[in-house]
Amino acid sequence: MSNNPRAGIGMTSARTRGRMIERLREQKISDAMVLAAMGVVPRHLFIDQALESRAYDDTALPIGFGQTISNPYIVARMTELARNNRALQRVLEIGTGCGYQAAVLGQVAKEVVTMERIAALVGQTRKRYRDLRINNVKLKHGDGMQGYAEGAPYDAIVIAAAFAAVPEALKMQLADGGRLVMPLGDDQQVLLVVTRLGNEFVEEKLEAVKFVPLLPGVA
Ligand code: SAH
Repeated sequence: MSNNPRAGIGMTSARTRGRMIERLREQKISDAMVLAAMGVVPRHLFIDQALESRAYDDTALPIGFGQTISNPYIVARMTELARNNRALQRVLEIGTGCGYQAAVLGQVAKEVVTMERIAALVGQTRKRYRDLRINNVKLKHGDGMQGYAEGAPYDAIVIAAAFAAVPEALKMQLADGGRLVMPLGDDQQVLLVVTRLGNEFVEEKLEAVKFVPLLPGVA
């Protein structure tokens, strides 16, 4: 037994997390490394305690500041698409929010940089990572539209907010063979995968999704 009062009992236990993994399998997530990552990261510790009992449900939840944590399926799906069965060294995420997606990426990559435009969310997530001893995810307060050139090139870039076009700066920060995954569109959105092959960018549009918008500047 852990001394941590939020270690997880009942609706937040490892067993509940196990049921989430079973559901992800039924939803056709097949990458064993992604399923293992989803099984390890304690999703209930990334949301408000009042919503904790719903943490492992197949639903997006509010995280404050008008933002949401994506549902488990979309986090797993984007991670699987970004990974594409490769070993990942460096990964960039845009839209840290509560830090859950970046923590999952941290389980399948050596190092993750995640950027968030809302300073208060960066502060909360920084504290959460310290408590959870997550050390391979770097937090940056800034406009992710410009990316983080100092850390480039990236094997994968995941954008957790929707935009009508692929931000040019981010494309240029992809490694050769690297993959960018994002929700493309404003009202109507689809999941887009961009693969960099030299200076060619191959686009593949997948299923419909619903994300909050990517916004310019910082707050
Ligand atoms: N990955 C998150 C979900 C985040 S929701 C999680 O696991 O919780 C999308 C986030 O993108 C919001 O927190 C929003 O503030 C942020 N965002 C929107 N536009 C941005 C930009 N230009 N740069 C960085 N972050 C941005």
